Amino acid sequence: MSIVAIVGRPNVGKSTFFNRLIQRREAIVDAISGVTRDRHYGKSDWNGKEFSLIDTGGYVVGSDDIFEAEIDKQVELAIDEADAIIFMVDVESGVTGMDEEVAQLLRKSKKPVFLAVNKVDSANRLHDAVEFYSLGFEKYYPISGINGSGSGDLLDDLVKVLPETETRDDDELPRFAVVGRPNAGKSSFINALIGEERFVVTDIAGTTRDSIDTKYNRFGFEFNLVDTAGIRKKSKVKEDLEFYSVMRSVRAIEHCDVIMLVFDATRGFDGQVQNIFWLAERNNKGIVILVNKWDLVEGKDNRTTKDFEAYIRKQCEPFTDVPIVFISALTKQRIFKAIETAVEVFKNRSRRIKTSQLNDIMLPIIQTTPPPALKGKYVKIKFCTQLPTPHPCFAFFANLPQYVKEPYKRFLENKLREHFDFTGVPVTIYIRKK
Ligand code: GDP
Ligand code: GDP
Repeated sequence: MSIVAIVGRPNVGKSTFFNRLIQRREAIVDAISGVTRDRHYGKSDWNGKEFSLIDTGGYVVGSDDIFEAEIDKQVELAIDEADAIIFMVDVESGVTGMDEEVAQLLRKSKKPVFLAVNKVDSANRLHDAVEFYSLGFEKYYPISGINGSGSGDLLDDLVKVLPETETRDDDELPRFAVVGRPNAGKSSFINALIGEERFVVTDIAGTTRDSIDTKYNRFGFEFNLVDTAGIRKKSKVKEDLEFYSVMRSVRAIEHCDVIMLVFDATRGFDGQVQNIFWLAERNNKGIVILVNKWDLVEGKDNRTTKDFEAYIRKQCEPFTDVPIVFISALTKQRIFKAIETAVEVFKNRSRRIKTSQLNDIMLPIIQTTPPPALKGKYVKIKFCTQLPTPHPCFAFFANLPQYVKEPYKRFLENKLREHFDFTGVPVTIYIRKK
């Protein structure tokens, strides 16, 4: 999926515009909270083309120097990571020195840039927008983030430069993405699997490495391993490292079938790790949790493992049907078990249940425990079927679908999980009108 970044000075209206695009599309919004102040990532689409949108935001309080450095970083980030850039300026304040500086950086890059002159809420201001020609772009788009005017023209042109949304061939190899925070041991894990020093493993996060796909064959099963360890050399700042790695994870997650979420046992299943977990869950990807550096945990016994598992599952509620494998990339302990588990999860995600078998099992359960009556009305579910989607989705047909609430859907999901193996995969339940 393409990435579009919005850059510009603080207060020009980036987040207002971002929110408009995301909400209008009712897309998933993933605030990667805690990564940096308030950079946001979300999904949007226009004319049938989906893209990920980053608001490189970040309101900075401090001296002008810090301010400028921060904006330069934002722009660099956008140039590195995005397929297209929306450069936002503010008609109220006119052209500022900082706008000129950003324009210069952007013009040097080869990325397509769309100059959006924001806060053009009225015809008068349309006039004022002309001065932005001085920034040296061929064209500008007068818009109003507040009332939405002008954004259609901008988006029409923007999506034209984005590559077609990829569709996946059936005979394409399954993709397993190795994701996690910097230094969790992703490269070490991949190295250990491949058995040769193909990747540079280093303690210094920040070595130049790009994300690499490796074709791999194990258990008579072929797949692509996607390494997301790549971190650009420029990012010396810790929070930027995090952001790069999260962006890379975001991309990898969208393109994969199963994620192998690596985290450092000595650091815990913290907020950043959870962000990645939920991102994968919302994108309906298979998930295997790898607790790495298990060799460093002292005085381990069965109990330690059980407690650790319980702790992780607690963080994953309500999606707890996820495999957890304790590994050490260093000693190679259970690294093949990790792959084996990912293969199982992949199979679970592709599992198709025959309609007859599904009804044979589910209808008696529903009969015994029907949805609770609401306002004196009884809900009847008469039939269910699995939909032909890439991840497991089930439709239950009912006379009064709107009366079936979340807890009952969860009940159905749990029953499905009891009878069919969907370990590691999100399951979606739809209640439809019969
Ligand atoms: P950011 O710092 O670039 O993300 O800017 P914000 O989206 O937070 O907006 C800064 C201020 O500009 C807020 O007070 C917004 O309400 C205002 N604003 C944003 N878009 C428009 C617009 O199209 N017209 C007007 N008049 N104000 C706007
Ligand atoms: P990445 O940024 O996620 O790719 O992490 P690396 O693979 O570069 O590993 C970061 C550091 O953790 C390196 O110093 C590795 O040697 C170390 N490391 C990785 N896996 C293990 C492990 O299982 N046990 C121990 N003790 N150290 C590990």
